[in-house]
Amino acid sequence: MAKVLIIGAGGVGGVCVHKCAQVPEVFSDIVLASRTLSKCDAIAASVKRKTGRTITTAKVDADNVPELVQLINAHKPDIVVNLALPYQDLTIMDACLETGVPYLDTANYEPLDEAKFEYKWQWAYQDRFKDAGLMALLGSGFDPGVTNVYCAYAMKHLFDEIHELDIIDCNAGDHGHPFATNFNPEINIREVTARGRYWERGEWVETDPLSWSMMYKFPEGIGPKKCFLMYHEELESLVINIKGLKRARFWMTFSDNYLNHLRVLENVGMTGIEPVEHNGQQIVPLQFLKSVLPEPASLGGRTKGRTCIGCKMKGLKNGEVKNYFIYNICDHEACYDEVESQAISYTTGVPAMIGAMMMVTGAWKGEGVFNMEQLDPDPFMDKLNIHGLPWVVVDLDKQ
Ligand code: NDP
Repeated sequence: MAKVLIIGAGGVGGVCVHKCAQVPEVFSDIVLASRTLSKCDAIAASVKRKTGRTITTAKVDADNVPELVQLINAHKPDIVVNLALPYQDLTIMDACLETGVPYLDTANYEPLDEAKFEYKWQWAYQDRFKDAGLMALLGSGFDPGVTNVYCAYAMKHLFDEIHELDIIDCNAGDHGHPFATNFNPEINIREVTARGRYWERGEWVETDPLSWSMMYKFPEGIGPKKCFLMYHEELESLVINIKGLKRARFWMTFSDNYLNHLRVLENVGMTGIEPVEHNGQQIVPLQFLKSVLPEPASLGGRTKGRTCIGCKMKGLKNGEVKNYFIYNICDHEACYDEVESQAISYTTGVPAMIGAMMMVTGAWKGEGVFNMEQLDPDPFMDKLNIHGLPWVVVDLDKQ
C-alpha cells in the first residue's frame, strides 16, 4: 500500500491518476498537484465518476524547490511521479533528494532556451541519488519507456545481440481539428522541428528536419503509412545499454495536413523559442502558439482511430539472423471510454503508473538514476498486458 504524489495535471497526469486509482491495492493514497488547482480538481471529479475514489489535490509551482519540498513534506508520499513538463525535471529531482523520496518521470530535462533532448543533466544526478539510497527512474512513458522495455525484453528473450533497431511511432488517429498536437504543443513542436539524428557504427549521423522518410506497413488493418526519421531521446541510452547495436533510428508518422501547417508556422516564425519583442513585451513565439492551440487534454472526446508504436529489431540468436517487431495498438475511443483521454496521453500515463508500481512494490529496486532498459523487463511487460497496453511479438521471418 503506497501513497503516490503525481505532479502535473495535463493529459498524461490525468491518465496516470485514473490508472493509479484503478489499483487501490497498490496505490492506497493519491495526491495530484499542479500549477492550476482547477485542473487537478477536474481530474479528481473524473476519477470519482469513473472509480468512486477520492483523491487529494494541491497547487504547486514545480519550478520552485522550496514549494515542492513543502508539498512533499506535507503529504509524505512513497514516490513522486513527475508528469509536469521537462523543464521541471531538475527542480523536482532536487526536491526528492531533499525529502528522501524516489522519483519517476516520462521525458528528459530540457532547458527553456535550447532544444537538446539529452540525458546529461539528469545523469549528472547519479551520485547524489546513489548516496541518498534513492531510485530515480527516467522516461517511464511509451517512447521513451515501453520502447526501452521492449528492447530489454528482446535482449533477454529473443536475441543474443541486437544489431539494428527501428522504433516506429504511428498515430493513425484523427481529432478533427485542422491542427493540434497530441501532447504538450511546445515539447511536440520542438521535437519535430529539431534536426534528425540516428546512430550508425558508433557515431551519430545528423539529417535535416523530417528530410528522410520510409513507408511502413502497420499491422492489424492500419496499413502503410509514411514515417519520418527524427531524433528521439531514448536512442541516447539504448545505444549505451543494448549490446551489439550497430544502427538505431526513430521514426514517426505525420499526416500531410500536419506537415503543411507546421511548415507554414515555421516559415512565419511561430515555432521559434527565442523571445521576440511584442507591444513592449518579450514573448516566445512557440509559447504564444501553445496558448492558441487546443489543449492536448481536450482532444480526448473527439479523437478516433488507433496508435501503433513498436520496435523493429534485427540481430542474432544462436548464430542465426532474426527479425522481430514488438508493438502495441491502442484505440483512442476505447481510452476515452475508460479514462476520458485520447491514446497518446493514455500510452504515456499507463507506463508511468506501471513504473511507479514497479518501484513501490519493490519489483524494481536500485540506488541511483536508471533508464528503463537497465531493469528486468518481465514484471513490467506482464503489467502492460493487465493494465491496458497489451503487446504482440511478430517473428517477421515467419510472415
Ligand atoms: P500537458 O501540457 O497536457 O500537461 C503538463 C502539466 O504540467 C499541466 O497541467 C501544467 O500546468 C503542468 N505544469 C507545467 N509547468 C508547471 C509548473 N511549473 N508547476 C506545476 N505544474 C506545471 O502535457 P502532457 O500531459 O501532454 O505531457 C506531460 C509530460 O509527459 C511532458 O513532460 C511530456 O513531454 C511527457 N510525454 C512523454 C511521452 C512519452 O511517451 N515518454 C509522450 C507524451 C508526453 P498548467 O495546466 O497550469 O499549464
